[in-house]
Amino acid sequence: MYFTDFDFEDEVLDALDAMRFEKCTPIQEQTLQPLMEGRDLIGVAQTGTGKTAAYLLPVLNRLCRGEYPEDSINCVIMAPTRELAQQIDRQLEGFTYFMNVSSVAVYGGNDGQRYEQELRGMAKGADIIVATPGRLISHINLGNIDLSKVSFFILDEADRMLDMGFCNDIMTIAKQLPKERQTMLFSATMPEEIRKLARDILTDPVQITLALAKPADGITQQAYICHEGQKLGIINSIFDNESSERVILFASRKTKVKEISHTLKKHGFNVGEMHSDLSQSERDEIMFQYKSRKIDMIVATDILARGIDIDDIRIVINYDVPRDCDDYIHRIGRTARAGTKGRAITLVNVEDQEYFKRIEDFIEQDVPKMELPAALGEAPAYEPKSKQKGARKQRSNNKDKQGGNNRKRNNHKRGGRPANGNKQQNAKPVENSGQPKETASVATPQEGTPKQQGEKPKRRRPNHRRKRRNKPQGGENAAPVTENK
Ligand code: AMP
Repeated sequence: MYFTDFDFEDEVLDALDAMRFEKCTPIQEQTLQPLMEGRDLIGVAQTGTGKTAAYLLPVLNRLCRGEYPEDSINCVIMAPTRELAQQIDRQLEGFTYFMNVSSVAVYGGNDGQRYEQELRGMAKGADIIVATPGRLISHINLGNIDLSKVSFFILDEADRMLDMGFCNDIMTIAKQLPKERQTMLFSATMPEEIRKLARDILTDPVQITLALAKPADGITQQAYICHEGQKLGIINSIFDNESSERVILFASRKTKVKEISHTLKKHGFNVGEMHSDLSQSERDEIMFQYKSRKIDMIVATDILARGIDIDDIRIVINYDVPRDCDDYIHRIGRTARAGTKGRAITLVNVEDQEYFKRIEDFIEQDVPKMELPAALGEAPAYEPKSKQKGARKQRSNNKDKQGGNNRKRNNHKRGGRPANGNKQQNAKPVENSGQPKETASVATPQEGTPKQQGEKPKRRRPNHRRKRRNKPQGGENAAPVTENK
């Protein structure tokens, strides 16, 4: 299905052209129509499926029509982490390039300049606020923000927000909003708490469920069954024979990340670390260094597992086995993006065997077990206890829930129009595979002067190409990110 199949305003179609978005991803195919009809919606889909555009486009389409007050906040988008908030804001910047729609990202920080930007954006009534819950609550408590005219309320990665303990904050925010509004909740999973939240804040929602993606075909998965003390030797042996460039190594705890990163540096690896103890500017700096190839490898907690666009990762290493099957898929999904190839290596100690077996059951694949280098001694046998807690069943249920609501429309209003490519010279066409192209995403100090956040020009519909906005810089913030110590 093409975006031209939908009744989008010219501004939106222009933005899609410029971004070279032509075909809808599956989640977009299924959600755009009900959202454009104004329905509340629950979207069960992960990052990487194109869900951000799925909820942004219908909202932008309505805002473009100029039916909403100019000096009020019309839309609130909640995201669990500042990284995701920044990423949504960047996508928004791309789409609103040709539009008179303003946005401000509100994700915390001790940086006075950033705080001023947030205040200014909110005071001027930016159309769209992209916020982490903690920071938005503090602005509400300080009386900095008027949410009484909000028409659209969007929760992205709602399951993660609840995991991080934001349920009460979300309810407090929801109570500030008018009852008459359109609410959209996106979540990778649908545990009971999310269902309850959905009952509390949505009205007669449509539910669209995409089956959890299997790991992309381009990922070669491997596992080393080992003792904890053999892990470092395995890492050393892997990079005896190949470069350690474009590698991400995941560990579940930030103390572990610091430890591993320290040890790898001592072993001569060119490593950066990423975890929630770092300030936003330190995180941006690490990402910048990684993107510009000044460092080869990032050792990270799950803070990097989801929602972050980084291209061309060659190898993902799981230093430990994620407890959650979804986390495994998210972590290894950092490699082999957009149809490329990559490798995912998991180090499985004796304690983690049971969890690894659950993952194998969940993805319905036996991951090849690699032989330990002889110098490291004997490997333990792979004998996971067989309490599998219904992982295969969980996947079958997901499959059963897929589908529905796939409306076909044939009015290719502007079908086949060539992409103009003026704005994103490097953007490539994307196949409609549900694994859309990743864009470079990490804000760097080099990316231009910050826009005056929230400054809202007057809407002048016909001549919508006149305005060029600069991307904002990543700023300081202290939005909470939960990680184990
Ligand atoms: P998301 O799941 O929203 O984080 O999207 C993942 C990536 O896919 C982002 O880099 C988007 O810019 C890109 N994307 C989303 N939808 C499309 C589409 N229909 N065509 C091309 N790229 C897309």
